[in-house]
Amino acid sequence: MADSIGHLIGGDRVDGRGELLAVHDPATGGVHARLAEADASQVDAAVAAAQAAFPSWSALAPDRRGALLRGLADAVEARLDEFAGAESLDTGKPLALARRLDIPRAIANLRFFASAAEQFASESHHGQAGLNYTLRQPLGAVAAISPWNLPLYLFTWKIAPALAAGNTVVGKPSEVTPLTAALLGELTRSLGWPPGVLNIVHGRGASTGADLVGHDGLRAITFTGSTRVGAGIAVESAARFRKLSLELGGKNPTIVFDDADFDAAVDGAVRAAFSNQGQICLCGSRILVQGTVYARFREAFLARVAALRTGDPLDPASDLGAVVSQAHFDKVLGCIERASAEGGEILAGGAPVRLAGRCADGWFLAPTVIEGLAPGCATNQEEIFGPVATLLPFADEEEALAIANGTRYGLACSLWTRDLGRAHGMAERLRCGLVWINTWLQRDLRTPFGGNGDSGIGREGGLEAMRFFTDTRNVCVHWGEPRR
Ligand code: NAD
Repeated sequence: MADSIGHLIGGDRVDGRGELLAVHDPATGGVHARLAEADASQVDAAVAAAQAAFPSWSALAPDRRGALLRGLADAVEARLDEFAGAESLDTGKPLALARRLDIPRAIANLRFFASAAEQFASESHHGQAGLNYTLRQPLGAVAAISPWNLPLYLFTWKIAPALAAGNTVVGKPSEVTPLTAALLGELTRSLGWPPGVLNIVHGRGASTGADLVGHDGLRAITFTGSTRVGAGIAVESAARFRKLSLELGGKNPTIVFDDADFDAAVDGAVRAAFSNQGQICLCGSRILVQGTVYARFREAFLARVAALRTGDPLDPASDLGAVVSQAHFDKVLGCIERASAEGGEILAGGAPVRLAGRCADGWFLAPTVIEGLAPGCATNQEEIFGPVATLLPFADEEEALAIANGTRYGLACSLWTRDLGRAHGMAERLRCGLVWINTWLQRDLRTPFGGNGDSGIGREGGLEAMRFFTDTRNVCVHWGEPRR
């Protein structure tokens, strides 16, 4: 077992003074690390360290900030296997997935925002009265709170733009998956980053997280996690008039029309439903299929699902690993039971997968497919965040839109059709922040990322993130005759 995981405060690795937590390996159910959470005084110290580091960090030339971020990206890349192993150990996700997706995307985030630091620019408006130009200045100390499903990927997605824009950060990764953020913090120490620029406090949401959110020293909070917690953070932040970015849950539709490239659509729907055990906010958990191809799609989809292998995350042949915790395992099983009670027919999965050997006590669930449920039932309305997808037939565009838009969420949609007019028309009418046409999870880091309704407010990505992490000031310069 690893030593107790430390916090990074003011450039020092410090042990927590709060409650001692166990960190589990979801593949075995065993405890692989201990974590003494940061108490309120340590959260205080972390915010103070960030505030103290702000004047010199914000004054540093942007290319120097960019160089530090790029150096960090290189250092993670040099230890990619170690990071991928830690991510898989903490989350239960297949090691191959962490190596192929999580860690490379985290590295890409750091590199992208290293360049953004150098290239960030602001507008000027040259007019009759003279010239207006816009200053975009860093905010100060900000907090970044991230979830367990894509730990390093989402942590870097937040801290990199904050730092690139000249802010200092207190990060709080999920207490369920603290390893890779802790490793990242250690790297900044060994690379000689200025103390206090990046601080990392670990602990449960209700304790360390709440202490952070309740702190008056923070100018902004960027949060990715559940809708329930996001709503609480919004309430806490409102009276403080603090900038807030909330990336929350989703209940995303995959919509397949009868003119789609059939094999590509089946493949895309399987990936969208079950990647990372269905634990990606962007997963397509409601699969809407046009009635004319429903039977054919159902058969092909179920055949593909039957071929998916749920197994040891260390086995390169495993498509799905374990879900993240005993509590989550129980929650997802409860959702499957509820689907049956609502009258859904379980076409595939629906039960735990029992493995032999070292994974005998792990939290593995079979990819589950359910049909026969109305769009308005709880199963089709509430986020499950596990390897569970429903199949729903629809007749035409209007019905597909009504079902797709008929939840409180509005994060993403994956749409499969060869009809360009239909694709663009639907994209305009879908109520969500991201529409993929004939693809899923394809990312360009320059594009705005985020959702509507219960999926959150604000946008991350590219310039949107750089703008979020800066205050805007307009400067108006008059020349010529004095204005009367
Ligand atoms: P969560 O809301 O339980 O926790 C997220 C983070 O917030 C963790 O670090 C947690 O410790 C902290 N937290 C919890 N309670 C807190 C409180 N009262 N005050 C401050 N911090 C608190 O979410 P989770 O279970 O870790 O992650 C799964 C959820 O995240 C799902 O709903 C998923 O859809 C969502 N998610 C959204 C996106 C997106 O970009 N929209 C991406 C990934 C995950």
